[in-house]
Amino acid sequence: MRESLAAHVAAGRRAAVSRAITLVESSHPEHRAQARELLAALTAPDKAAVRVGISGVPGVGKSTFIEALGGRLTAAGHRVGVLAVDPSSQRTGGSVLGDKTRMQRLATDQRAFIRASPSAGTLGGVARATSQAMLVLEAAAYDVVLVETVGVGQSETTVAGMVDTFLFLTLARTGDQLQGIKRGILELADVIAVNKADGDREAEARSAARELGGALRMVHGRERAPSVVTCSALTGAGVDDVWQQVLAHRDRLGDEGLAEKRAHQQLDFAWALVRDELEQRLRRSEAVRRVRGEVRDLVLRGELPAVAAADRILAAYDDAEHAPRVD
Ligand code: GDP
Repeated sequence: MRESLAAHVAAGRRAAVSRAITLVESSHPEHRAQARELLAALTAPDKAAVRVGISGVPGVGKSTFIEALGGRLTAAGHRVGVLAVDPSSQRTGGSVLGDKTRMQRLATDQRAFIRASPSAGTLGGVARATSQAMLVLEAAAYDVVLVETVGVGQSETTVAGMVDTFLFLTLARTGDQLQGIKRGILELADVIAVNKADGDREAEARSAARELGGALRMVHGRERAPSVVTCSALTGAGVDDVWQQVLAHRDRLGDEGLAEKRAHQQLDFAWALVRDELEQRLRRSEAVRRVRGEVRDLVLRGELPAVAAADRILAAYDDAEHAPRVD
């Protein structure tokens, strides 16, 4: 059964791709095992797909941009997959990103595949689902995969850890550009595009891009600074240029650099999954649950210092882990 699903994915059948992604998103142990089998049966493309992360605050124009870029890429013969990593969907249960209604043209494009963010789980779990969905898309010959994320918390770091190039969309702001943008993002970005460079805002966007580009070159040096360009997702002006900058970043990495980057990402991701799983186990642990209430009361009453409290919780966990199992 798994083999036939893999074969249908390899043939690029949309329904199979959809089913395969549902399978890799599932946290059900049986589905996880099936997902592993499926992934083992899938073949990676001969030529590495172009993996791009796209981030920016809500309203910056991410979906408009992906619609514009995606349409250009499919018209040029590419097959484009769009995935979303959306930590806010954990809270609301609904998905803010990757929503088909947000990218209506691309959603009906036969050469594009859009998948909304999995709507449950930890960021680690969502990341696992997304990175495996990426493998499914690549096996189905989608040669460009865009991973969208909103500028919240850890999600950008997570996405930056699974793509080749991280594109940050921003808006022209008057005043100090570096203060206008969270510093951490600037560390992650390989390409920065000042969006909404149209109409009255065009001149402002251009000068903001120049200012930001200059500041980044001062901080990182000319070689390592991300390139900063302007675009209008609405009119499409500059969208090609943004893509050229993405490809230029890949060229700078080179085949070897790309392989090395992906290998390191795999290692970091493995550890992230381990940390995520350990945290889940800690939460589920009966032994921890038994001491939790008492530790809480003692700490709140000021009778137990934090360090001792942590020791007690960890000791409870370790004892339970190492105790002989009675099955
Ligand atoms: P997202 O939340 O980042 O996905 O942002 P959207 O793509 O939904 O865009 C938010 C709003 O900005 C929408 O009303 C878009 O039409 C508008 N918008 C997006 N890109 C541009 C642009 O390049 N120029 C202008 N003027 N408006 C834009």
